[in-house]
Amino acid sequence: MRVRTLAAVLLAGALALTACGKEGSPTDTAAPAGLFEVAKDVKVDGSPTFEKIKTRGSLIVGVKEDQPGLGYKDPTTNKYSGFDIDIARLISAKLGFDPEKIQFKTIQSAAREQALINGDVDYYVGTYTINAGRKEKVSFAGPYFVAGQDLLVKKDNTDITGKDTLKGKKVCSVTGSTPAKRIKDEKLTEEGNVLEFQGYSQCVTKLLNGEVDAVTTDDAILKGYAAAEDGKLKVVGKTFSSEPYGIGLPKDDKALRDKVNDVLQASLDDGTWQKIYDGTLGKSGSTAEKPKIDRY
Ligand code: GLU
Repeated sequence: MRVRTLAAVLLAGALALTACGKEGSPTDTAAPAGLFEVAKDVKVDGSPTFEKIKTRGSLIVGVKEDQPGLGYKDPTTNKYSGFDIDIARLISAKLGFDPEKIQFKTIQSAAREQALINGDVDYYVGTYTINAGRKEKVSFAGPYFVAGQDLLVKKDNTDITGKDTLKGKKVCSVTGSTPAKRIKDEKLTEEGNVLEFQGYSQCVTKLLNGEVDAVTTDDAILKGYAAAEDGKLKVVGKTFSSEPYGIGLPKDDKALRDKVNDVLQASLDDGTWQKIYDGTLGKSGSTAEKPKIDRY
């Protein structure tokens, strides 16, 4: 008991110190100390995006901020964390920029292509499935992870056991996402039973208060919500798609795509990718297969 009390006091002190240290900095984007070595004298010949970044002296990276474990912004500390965030930081370090030079910008699923086309972000890391339709507008490095569409329900739900049990059920997803499209294309529930919002956290709120029966998107995202809601929700666990996650890039910047693919490949080979996974998504105990980079 005394040991636990002491530990609690020490922890509280450490938290207080951390909080003090952050005062005055609106956004803490620092990576875990020493995780990524910042490359020197980086050149990406023929990359207009890299030229722009160099001139600006900082990076603007599109992310999600409401997906715990992947892309999450702590509302009290403004600190970003998650697998996607660390992948974004790794890329910035290998482009020669300290992680503190990243400005994260929240872009919801439906707005990703346009943000890249407009040049509002230099690259995008946020559960972004590589597919043919999107490749007409943007380009992708990766995949750096492969997820699968699944369902999130209340813990005590027994009648939703997979994609073919959704008829007559209210299902929530996000506008412009591949899971929302699949649920409609495959008519897994009636048209009027599909609810769409800008972010998955809005769907989770509706699920918790009983306004919808299920939330559908990638299993990796749903597992994060289930963990955050501490026993109130469960992931059904029968995936019904393959969602290869890519780094979204401006369409015509092949030089930058090749460079980012090199960075990802090196991280898969030297253990960095595994370290990032273990420190974020892997904390729940689930393992993941290393993805195979698809150069095109
Ligand atoms: N991976 C899917 C997609 O890119 C769902 C997750 C998301 O909306 O970001 O559409």
